[in-house]
Amino acid sequence: CDLGALDAALSECRACPRLVSWREEVARTKRAAFAEETYWGRPVPGFGPADAAMLVIGLAPAAHGGNRTGRMFTGDRSGDVLYAALYDVGLASQPTATGPGDGLALHGVRVTAPVHCAPPANKPTPQERDNCRPWLVEELRLLSPTVRSAVVLGAFGWQAALPAFAAAGWEVPRPRPAFGHGARTTLHGEPGRLDLFGCYHVSQRNTFTGRLTPAMLRDVLTEAAAAAGL
Ligand code: SF4
Repeated sequence: CDLGALDAALSECRACPRLVSWREEVARTKRAAFAEETYWGRPVPGFGPADAAMLVIGLAPAAHGGNRTGRMFTGDRSGDVLYAALYDVGLASQPTATGPGDGLALHGVRVTAPVHCAPPANKPTPQERDNCRPWLVEELRLLSPTVRSAVVLGAFGWQAALPAFAAAGWEVPRPRPAFGHGARTTLHGEPGRLDLFGCYHVSQRNTFTGRLTPAMLRDVLTEAAAAAGL
């Protein structure tokens, strides 16, 4: 299986009844501003090169963002903040992301999430998180020859990602390192080490209140890029 095949298989997944029904209902009813668009309404695969040296791991696609455009963090406020920062530190070809065909390319970075379908109120259940873990585990396995660092956005992503890294063959320290903005840990595995960086999520709840500033985000991305040799 390669990453393209994994993404194709993922986009057919219907393992979580609540999320399948929500993602499809949102795609049918739409937001007025996007009434003319055809929503994706399916699981949203990771975005970025198959030989990425660095990962950015979020939470789940947004109802009118990734669930609309079919691309991670694309078409919502969180993504606007994330891609602008990736561009500022030289990891993206342009600062904006509006949808497939917008010309955006990521340099050495892949953006993904532990839950691939948009959840109501951005809150997946523990069962849904566990259902989706095998997709992330397989993605991590396929990326393991090249990936050397990961930025995890928010506590949910951190708690979901650590077991996924463990299942994909990395040794996670015990006790498990706690999430925080500025949390750092190193995982060891084949064929090398992977540096994990905690960062507050780029949601409006954090960016509008100044809990996460663009400079704070750029700093973490810069550190993670250096750890990945980018
Ligand atoms: Fe499948 Fe993950 Fe979507 Fe659940 S959240 S339906 S496991 S892709």
